[in-house]
Amino acid sequence: MHITTNALVLRAVDYKESDKILTLLTQEQGVLTASARGCRKKGSAIAAGCQLLAWSEMVLYDYQGRWSVKEAATQRLFQGLRTDLERLALGCYFAEAAELLAVEGLPSPELLSLTLNSLHALDKMTDKPLPLVKAAFEWKALALAGYEPLIDGCAVCGVTPPEAPRFHLREGVLHCARCKTEVGEGISMPLSLQALSALDYILHGDPKRLFSFRLEGEELQQLSDTAEAYLHTQLERGFSTLDYYKSLNPGP
Ligand SMILES: [Zn+2]
Repeated sequence: MHITTNALVLRAVDYKESDKILTLLTQEQGVLTASARGCRKKGSAIAAGCQLLAWSEMVLYDYQGRWSVKEAATQRLFQGLRTDLERLALGCYFAEAAELLAVEGLPSPELLSLTLNSLHALDKMTDKPLPLVKAAFEWKALALAGYEPLIDGCAVCGVTPPEAPRFHLREGVLHCARCKTEVGEGISMPLSLQALSALDYILHGDPKRLFSFRLEGEELQQLSDTAEAYLHTQLERGFSTLDYYKSLNPGP
């Protein structure tokens, strides 16, 4: 059986002498694994499309329950992020998170489009601070995967906006600093009103203009740190790609 599908390479691992095993986020089939035979040979027609973070139209064929890449016509390589170590590291983190949040065999067009938009931002929107792109991706990806935070008001007393607002990482809700004991055990982190308004924009604004908000300094750092901590708390794991990005020491 053959299928033709647009696919983003989320992971590429060298295999044998000239092959790769790819993890693909596809338009039609969600996330899947495919082998790319001979793609590391000189002159291979599928080499470009089988690179990490390449977006291609692929022809895949199914042989005894395993997918193989037959053709790969590259559409976007996101070249701008390949020449900058911090941007590349962040792109790899987006890919690792998308792989974890996607469901095998189930199309997730919103997650795919979020990941592509975020890679586009890393590639072309060089005026956007990296923590802004990172925070927008993290909050939106979590919301799409079923972890949408409740940010309407304090989850305990209902006040809008909460007084000295804090975000509870395990419960995924906002609360006033003074209402903390009522929310339950666990860590909560401060979010300023400006950071909250940016979060509201990320969650409820036009997804095509996801990065069209302004936030800087301490407030942007809060939004980015809280997103990351919320992701780690909900998924109960860390990300080697994120550790690497942070080791490069980018600031807001
Ligand atoms: Zn309250």
